[in-house]
Amino acid sequence: MHEALAVPAAPRPTVAVEGSALRFPVRRIFCVGRNYPEHAREMGARDERAPPFFFAKPADAVIASGSIVPFPPRTANLQHEIELVVALAKGGRNIAVEAAAGLVYGYAVGVDLTRRDVQAAMKEEGKPWDTAKGFDHSAPISPIMAAAGTAQVGKGRIWLEVNDKPRQMGDIADMIWSVPEIIAELSTWFELAAGDLIFTGTPAGVGQLNPGDRVRGGVDGVGILAFTMATR
Ligand code: MN
Repeated sequence: MHEALAVPAAPRPTVAVEGSALRFPVRRIFCVGRNYPEHAREMGARDERAPPFFFAKPADAVIASGSIVPFPPRTANLQHEIELVVALAKGGRNIAVEAAAGLVYGYAVGVDLTRRDVQAAMKEEGKPWDTAKGFDHSAPISPIMAAAGTAQVGKGRIWLEVNDKPRQMGDIADMIWSVPEIIAELSTWFELAAGDLIFTGTPAGVGQLNPGDRVRGGVDGVGILAFTMATR
């Protein structure tokens, strides 16, 4: 029987799949903080050997490559963080590192847009990061490259440029937690499921975005993400 809804149901956010008419339905967006040593240093980490950690964005924060991304309100320092994104075909809890690759649907290129000024204030005051990280349109993402059951993205250049000038450059091999380690660790905190996206952390070189900026980034072997920040 069809249940009557009290208010209109929001549409399920989806992401394109490269070379396919299929769409990937997003359930949750998990993010890894401080997964590259050089980025931990540039963020002034007190202990750069401290393990990475997790936070989240709402599923409807995704916005497709090629979009004009609305410029978020209430920030004077919006920043880009280029990241490898893992898309899950299956989930579970307490997943073994050796079993993690078997859950992967594919990979994408994402930018974890961050209100850096808000994040700094929230850190200072011991408050949650939601307004700094989980705002509307805060997760631009490329089409997903299907790569079922593989953890093949273990190395490769990850880069980002703004208005054709290089900003971020790193290598997936420098991640503190590898893709299988991230999935295993995350599954000890949350039961994972098909449709989950995991932003795996950003290399060094994060910086400010202004209205009208053209952003382009990629991960070797995965794809390219491009978008333009709207003028206010
Ligand atoms: Mn990030």
